[in-house]
Amino acid sequence: MSIQEDYGSLVFGAKTMGKYLSHKTYQSLLATMKNGTALDPSIADEVAVGMKNWALDYGATHFTHWFQPLTGTTAEKHDSFFNPSSEGGVVASFSGKELTQGEPDASSFPSGGLRATFEARGYTAWDPTSPAFIKKNSDGVSVLCIPTVFCGYHGEALDRKAPLLRSQAALVKQLHRVAKLFGVEDTERPYATLGPEQEYFLVDAEVYRKRPDLVQTGRTLFGVRPARHQQLEDHYFGKIKNRVLSFMAEVDRELWKLGIPAKTRHNEVSPAQFELAPVFEEQNLSSDHNMLTMEILQNVAERYGMVCLTHEKPFDGVNGSGKHNNWSVTGPDGKNWLTPGKTPHENAKFLMVLVSIIKGVDTFAPLLRASVASAGNDHRLGANEAPPAIISIFLGDQLTDIIQQLEKGRPESSKAGGVLEIGVSSLPKLPKDATDRNRTSPFAFTGNKFEFRAVGSDQSCATANTALNAIVAWALDEVMNEIEALTSKGTDFNSALQSVLQKEIKEHKRVLFDGNGYSDEWKAEAKRRGLPNLTNTLEAIEAYRDPKVIKLYKDAGILSEIELESRYVIEKEKYEAVVALEANCALTMAKTMFLPEGISYSAELADSCSSLTDYAHAGVSSLAKKASTEVEALIKEIDKLEEAIGKGSPKDELQGMHNVRLHVDALEKIVPGSQWPVPSYGEMFFIG
Ligand code: ADP
Ligand code: MG
Repeated sequence: MSIQEDYGSLVFGAKTMGKYLSHKTYQSLLATMKNGTALDPSIADEVAVGMKNWALDYGATHFTHWFQPLTGTTAEKHDSFFNPSSEGGVVASFSGKELTQGEPDASSFPSGGLRATFEARGYTAWDPTSPAFIKKNSDGVSVLCIPTVFCGYHGEALDRKAPLLRSQAALVKQLHRVAKLFGVEDTERPYATLGPEQEYFLVDAEVYRKRPDLVQTGRTLFGVRPARHQQLEDHYFGKIKNRVLSFMAEVDRELWKLGIPAKTRHNEVSPAQFELAPVFEEQNLSSDHNMLTMEILQNVAERYGMVCLTHEKPFDGVNGSGKHNNWSVTGPDGKNWLTPGKTPHENAKFLMVLVSIIKGVDTFAPLLRASVASAGNDHRLGANEAPPAIISIFLGDQLTDIIQQLEKGRPESSKAGGVLEIGVSSLPKLPKDATDRNRTSPFAFTGNKFEFRAVGSDQSCATANTALNAIVAWALDEVMNEIEALTSKGTDFNSALQSVLQKEIKEHKRVLFDGNGYSDEWKAEAKRRGLPNLTNTLEAIEAYRDPKVIKLYKDAGILSEIELESRYVIEKEKYEAVVALEANCALTMAKTMFLPEGISYSAELADSCSSLTDYAHAGVSSLAKKASTEVEALIKEIDKLEEAIGKGSPKDELQGMHNVRLHVDALEKIVPGSQWPVPSYGEMFFIG
């Protein structure tokens, strides 16, 4: 089958629907999917039958409501289509009710106190804006998956999709208002777009199995980066090794079947690190597609004798993995509104949207930081790595210049050449090239979209995008309110816009930063500017308890105060659980693998001393001394780690792990590689 024929073959999308549904139902469902309008209940039964027939044709025996509980992964519970018939056989059936609503036992999913256990019932409800698909494993076992939101008995959101959809509604409302304000054509439902670039590592499955830390926690808790490593030097965009390329090709084929527009694949900067980027899509769909992409990466890796690591920081000393969250909006005129326009009028709209984004990001930087907070991502954010935990915006030279002109009013001259007057002057054509890149910025304008780079490679995009939509909707609302307040008093529109944008830039320009985000100077400068630097999850999630954030989410109908508090509780518990798991794993490995090895090697060295020449004797006994000093220190640190675990303090546990690691890593540098109980970084980095 050609790629074109195969593309989307596992999706109940427009093409397939046409074959399995009557014309009338098809039209109605298509409108629901496209415009996000409510589903006409009278067609649910027919849609269900069509979907079932399609799924059966593909060999599916079961269906499942597919959802994203707050655990961070996706969940599914399979039900077969088959019921005993009165004649003694079975009949396949699937009703509209089964399609649109499910009732999984919610009591084992995290609810952060939202749902007392006596209200264990949870509901899943069909999200028709993300099409149903068939998941097929390598043995051909096929399941019909129906994307759903997951909520509690009283409608409380227990997942990541419900708030995302609600935040989209808030944004859509403001985008229509912008269209009206600027007299822009309003013929389609506007929507946010998302293109998540996914980074990941690959390790050989055999090597992986010998590392209890990787198996249990997804990251190495010990290990020394080789001083020089060929793969450290020229991995980025390097030639893709055969086995990896075959893996990538199969990943692409699997994704295409699911209608996921995988586009780019390449080696990333760290050894054994890679990236996959899709073509951007409507945000909710793209977010679901990213969850599936992570699953497919893991499944296909297994078939190639490898393990795909989506953890944010599997290896110390080399770059971790993120998800570059490319975000934009397509207006009701069907155009990308973050593309600087050709006419002064379009530019005015572009600048208003841009300044609103700046206002939103500056005002709610802690919320954005919270939306990407996790134990794994803490090792990237705030740890001298891209991107920093300080949320700032990179605009690039040209746009910075334009913003500066706007702030000042009428400038004498400018890089762009000319005077910038809103609604009158044209913007220069902004080059969308490599000079506009700054890899250290957490939030960068890249020509026609913003790239939020702080999202962790293992996270769902939904939470970060919920925050993004929310803050932009809020800022647009505020800015338009201010403009309307002026125009209602008789100020002409362009002057009102100009003065409001000037004021907003003055207030929020502190968040703009084009320099090196890794540097210590920036940390100091950011502090002077009053920008928050929230280096760990526990600090970051405090944003969920900030009255300003509570009001933001409540007013926009995204999350009630109770729902938001439940996020706080869940993220905190999850963080503590991850750190505790790591601490216990580190303790066991140190006690049962590294300490015994350190002891026996020290003894071996000491024993061998007697039979040596004087010169060798001196060298070996100094090595023996070094080894036994490390062993002694390790014993002490193991005791302290054990104590920290007893106290259950994540901060102490992290510190304890760090200290234990120092001595284990020091021993790894002394003990012969062939004797070291686990594969080294060098062995893990080799993937060919
Ligand atoms: P780079 O960031 O390396 O320049 P691209 O600009 O081609 O690469 O795109 C990177 C990612 O951004 C891709 O996933 C792409 O689909 C996505 N992207 C491009 N335009 C948009 C948009 N308007 N909205 C959201 N994502 C977009
Ligand atoms: Mg990019």
